[in-house]
Amino acid sequence: MSDASQVTQSDRDEMRRNGILVTSIQEIYNWGRSHSVWPLQFGLACCAIEMIAASMAKYDIARFGSEVFRPSPRQADLLIVSGTVTKKMAPQVVRIWNLMPEPKFCIAMGACAISGGPFKQGYNVLKGIDRFLPVDLYIPGCPPRPEALLHGLIELQKRIGKEPMRTSRLSPAAGDSPAKTYVLPEFGEHDIVPPCNPAIWKAPELTGLDRT
Ligand code: SF4
Repeated sequence: MSDASQVTQSDRDEMRRNGILVTSIQEIYNWGRSHSVWPLQFGLACCAIEMIAASMAKYDIARFGSEVFRPSPRQADLLIVSGTVTKKMAPQVVRIWNLMPEPKFCIAMGACAISGGPFKQGYNVLKGIDRFLPVDLYIPGCPPRPEALLHGLIELQKRIGKEPMRTSRLSPAAGDSPAKTYVLPEFGEHDIVPPCNPAIWKAPELTGLDRT
């Protein structure tokens, strides 16, 4: 059989009952990739405590192959943005992302990383890291529990498991024309410059304000 995807699930189950396993190189390849996602050892605020808890014995992220938190972006393929991203810190987060090798993934963990959270109106807080990075998964909460992070990781594994092996893949959330190096903002005289990466983020259209 040249393509294991042509074998129906019921056929697979039947063969498994008889001690025959059917697979493909692509499935083995993606199985290995999805179960060895290595997060960067990097946290920004209180959400990071929950991320750390997920790696402890009670939640045991090692069950999913992601216990190897790396101290270097060169050795990591998952950036978990866990905590409040201040405008002074945003350039460092993008710089770290640019240093990570492809293929790589980004999880925005918690309300602050997603939208600024309780500090959204703060003059110094970025209103969502997706203004500068291609976020693959959003995990809401303030903070999300470790179980939520594990659930997000499992969802990410499912996505990796469906990726075609031969596609030269860059970050999937970046769309059809991903950039290898993302715009690095600077903390200017009054604010962060530019305020977003226009290639990956556009201000949402406001609705319900038409008073004509
Ligand atoms: S979302 Fe809540 S728990 Fe997470 S960093 Fe922000 S304030 Fe802290």
